[in-house]
Amino acid sequence: MILLFESGVDESVVRDVTLRLQAAGLRALRGPEPRRAALVVPEGLPPELAAELEAEPTLTLVQPHEPWRLVHRALRDAPSVVRIGGPRGVAIGGGSVAVIAGPCSVEGRQAVLEAAHHAREAGAQLLRGGAFKPRTSPYAFRGYGVEGLAQLKAAGVATGMPVVSEIMDASDLPAFVDHDIDCLQIGARNMQNFTLLAAVAGAERPVLLKRGLAATVEEWLLAAEHLAAAGCSQIVLCERGIRTFETATRNTLDLTVLPLLHEWTHLPVVVDPSHAAGIARIIPPLARASITAGADGLALEMHLRPEVARSDAAQALLPGELARIMADVRVLVALDGRRLSPAASPACSAPPR
Ligand code: PEP
Ligand code: MN
Repeated sequence: MILLFESGVDESVVRDVTLRLQAAGLRALRGPEPRRAALVVPEGLPPELAAELEAEPTLTLVQPHEPWRLVHRALRDAPSVVRIGGPRGVAIGGGSVAVIAGPCSVEGRQAVLEAAHHAREAGAQLLRGGAFKPRTSPYAFRGYGVEGLAQLKAAGVATGMPVVSEIMDASDLPAFVDHDIDCLQIGARNMQNFTLLAAVAGAERPVLLKRGLAATVEEWLLAAEHLAAAGCSQIVLCERGIRTFETATRNTLDLTVLPLLHEWTHLPVVVDPSHAAGIARIIPPLARASITAGADGLALEMHLRPEVARSDAAQALLPGELARIMADVRVLVALDGRRLSPAASPACSAPPR
């Protein structure tokens, strides 16, 4: 059950309702909308209490058909805007579009710095790079670990770009926080690793939640709900292609979910056509289609020399190809009255602690 208060309602009313719910042995989770209070009661309301609360003039009770609550569209008046890199960081959602670009793996201090400069010059606002890599084969390059986080953050600071990197194990969380990784990526393989989701929710920074390899939208949104219920209020969803019978591409890019997600959740959604396609040359039209279908941003892999990339070489864009995609995105975003987010203000690029 969702309890929506009238906007501007006195905090004492919200407190009073919370106490009544708790006295009945129910949980009352506070919704993320700052201008309009909302409470989620995961267990639902017993009929007498529902009738009592329905009589409250400042309160509307909403029982969504869908099983998610805190990430439900009904919980907010407007879509969520997630800022990566602090309050003056890069905005994603609510009409602001941002692009995350960079190598699949962090491959050394100089390599990631050069990639960062090219990504920034092309117009991307956020830098990506994996330091802990989930690889199908145990013999493949699995990333430089903590040293890779330091190299990524240094490149982000040098170029004024907040950084995004995948975390695979909750025991690595202190290293991600110490290196001030601005956004924690949950990879497709870990979308339903619920203990990892609860751990990263406690880190008080944005989370990029990729769709599982074969996850339904409901499973994906309930994974987001796990993050939200554990206290994370800055969640960005990422469609990255799903497993189907088709083998011509690495995965099948499911753009059909974009308009639905905007009806079902207030969370922003970005699209990663790189991991969906697995083939660099077909990424530009998929990137354009993603923006046209309503994506709040893109995640794109780029490498200066794709032929020597240590992971996902076949899908790595060249810097010039990234720049052309950015030019297209600028046009498409303006066409539907949205805007490309400005780059983060330098204040967010403090050196790592
Ligand atoms: C990645 O972003 O490099 C990655 C491994 O993505 P996914 O989890 O979508 O496969
Ligand atoms: Mn990759």
